[in-house]
Amino acid sequence: GATIGIVGGGQLGRMSAMAAARLGFHVHILTPETNSPAAEVARGVTLGAYDDEAALRDFAAHVDVVTFEFENVSATGLALLESLRPVRPGRAILETSQDRIAEKTRLAELGAATAPWRPARDAAELDAAIAALGFPLILKTTRLGYDGKGQFPLPDAAAFAALDIAAPPWPLIAEGYVDFDREISVMVARGIDGTVRCFDATQNIHRNGILDLSLAPAPVAPELARAAQDLAARVAEGLELVGLMGVEMFVTADGGLLVNEIAPRPHNSGHWTMDACLADQFEMHVRAVAGLPLPPAMRHGDAVMKNLIGPDDMALCDAILASPGQALHLYGKAEARPGRKMGHVTIRFPFGALPGEAGISAALGPLARQRES
Ligand code: ATP
Ligand code: MG
Ligand code: MG
Repeated sequence: GATIGIVGGGQLGRMSAMAAARLGFHVHILTPETNSPAAEVARGVTLGAYDDEAALRDFAAHVDVVTFEFENVSATGLALLESLRPVRPGRAILETSQDRIAEKTRLAELGAATAPWRPARDAAELDAAIAALGFPLILKTTRLGYDGKGQFPLPDAAAFAALDIAAPPWPLIAEGYVDFDREISVMVARGIDGTVRCFDATQNIHRNGILDLSLAPAPVAPELARAAQDLAARVAEGLELVGLMGVEMFVTADGGLLVNEIAPRPHNSGHWTMDACLADQFEMHVRAVAGLPLPPAMRHGDAVMKNLIGPDDMALCDAILASPGQALHLYGKAEARPGRKMGHVTIRFPFGALPGEAGISAALGPLARQRES
């Protein structure tokens, strides 16, 4: 079979590689990390930095098509890959998602609403941003943030006065604070022939800046769920996505949808699809990248996904294995550092039977007690 090249060795690459292997593809990984989660299940690995020309050339020589589980390859690295092999999704969408200012600019062009924002690339721009947006606001690094890292909330003028202007890692973006009702996301896949498939919207609950729980389907009105899928599809088409993309959104009190960010790769909030769908987000991703037709994003059950964060949640693995109905997915990471995503658990419910908060806590068992402690 053909070989799919995946840039990045983390758990998203691991689960993509497992889906690819199941469909008969070989997988070759590019990662700087020895013993990475993806390398453990791949046919081959190029060990090297993402922007190392020799490593990129070696990687490309082993593969028929290139995709990503880590989207922060430099423009020159992407250009080199693109000159050697088909790259899906393409360079433009990756570059857009790498930079929050470019991302929000593009979303506006596509008619997708976002939080109000201003560039804050230096102290003068930050002053102008505060004058325009007022408080409260959130400063974020324009690049490389994840799990809420690189964010600085500015609730009021006193917090701004206390900010050491030399401290933040410029350039930044300033975003108006959104007092959202809930956070949701939609995984959208788009094939080489332009076919778009959207999984059902998911509600996401964060803890310490890290995704903790995803509820599928998101318990929202059907019209809102449909509007979220339409929005994700519009963004995917506008960006000419080939592959899979997670679209994070805020639901406002008046039922409006604001796009928070996009991630042109499989997404943590789509992991429930592995246990509750005909074809999961990783199969959709692999199929789109390989140029295969996309099956419908058909869900056959309701699900709650709980992330396992190091080190405390790992102590519960035996209890999870002993609980029928809890599907355990471990990522093969040796070191359970604090805050590190080590695996996830999916709790499955019959179609249409997602319980409320108390029912979810009961089904989570020891995992629920852990998250409340
Ligand atoms: P991820 O791990 O999803 O990539 P990230 O570090 O890229 O996270 P964001 O998704 O932008 O950061 O923000 C993390 C979380 O912070 C959001 O899911 C949301 O809960 C909160 N947040 C971000 N921006 C805003 C905003 N403008 N108003 C209110 N809350 C926000
Ligand atoms: Mg992000
Ligand atoms: Mg996010």
